Amino acid sequence: MIVVMQPDNTKEQLDHVVKLVEEMGLTSHIIYGTNRTVVAAVGDKRMVDKGAIENLPGVEKIVLILSPYKVASREVKHENTIIKLQPNGAQLGAERICMIAGPCSVEDRRQLLDTAAAVKETGGVGLRGGAFKPRTSPYSFQGLAEKGLEYLAEARAQTGLAVVTEVLAVAHVDLVARYADVLQVGARNMQNFMLLKAVGEQEKPVLLKRGMSATMEEFLLAAEYIINAGNSNVILCERGIRTFEEYCRNTLALTLVAAIKRVSHLPIIVDPTHGTGHTYLVEPMSLAAVAAGADGLIIEVHPDPEHALTDAGQQIDFNQFRNLMKKLARVARAVDREL
Ligand code: PEP
Ligand code: MN
Repeated sequence: MIVVMQPDNTKEQLDHVVKLVEEMGLTSHIIYGTNRTVVAAVGDKRMVDKGAIENLPGVEKIVLILSPYKVASREVKHENTIIKLQPNGAQLGAERICMIAGPCSVEDRRQLLDTAAAVKETGGVGLRGGAFKPRTSPYSFQGLAEKGLEYLAEARAQTGLAVVTEVLAVAHVDLVARYADVLQVGARNMQNFMLLKAVGEQEKPVLLKRGMSATMEEFLLAAEYIINAGNSNVILCERGIRTFEEYCRNTLALTLVAAIKRVSHLPIIVDPTHGTGHTYLVEPMSLAAVAAGADGLIIEVHPDPEHALTDAGQQIDFNQFRNLMKKLARVARAVDREL
């Protein structure tokens, strides 16, 4: 349930509500909106006497949350959540469409630094690149691990780009958080609940990719795990789902972008690279994603896609990225956004 405070409530009144909610065995989340402060009280409410809270000084009303996800829902927080990718860096979820680009995997120092320079020069705000790679085959390249993280940090020092990189395991959360600005939880780990809790217990923003067979509700409940663990900076990412279609690596479900905007306050970006699996489909799907209301894109860009160690068939080169950005700027303007 949501405890809606009166507009002029005092800090003491708010503290008192939080105390009572917690005494009732519920978890409380204070959400400061532009007009109202609300306390989302989450947990098993069977034994809770709502009347006791409703009568407290400073409380306006109690509203029951109908959706299974609570703190990720727009019922709890009306305004869009805006997330800073770095403490003084770009904001995701505001007017500007955030472009995060870089190779599928960090392969070597030169590859990464050259790509970072190109991404920066073309107008990107984030640098992606996997140091720990979730690979279907144990015989495929698994990533450079900590060495890859070091190259990412060096690229940030040179360009100022926010580093977005995947964390595969609970045991790696501290290590990855030491180097990254944003921790990515990949599609294969969307329901790794221990990992969701672990990234929720650290402070860096989390990029949560939709599982390839996850429904919207499961996706938002996964985000809810992270928020409930203490980290409300969750960026959702639609990256396509598995369907009967075999030609495309995944089916990019852009419907979800608009649907998420309706039911949740969290920002959502789109990955047109894994969402399609083909270089030539990255541009049209990027344009479509921005038109559909995405707050940003995460795209695989490689200096020499043909020779990429991973995902060679879907990465775009620097020129293709530059051309894409020009077209995207026009679509962004058409939907009242900036690039
Ligand atoms: C990736 O972004 O490198 C990746 C592995 O993506 P996904 O988890 O969406 O498959
Ligand atoms: Mn990839």
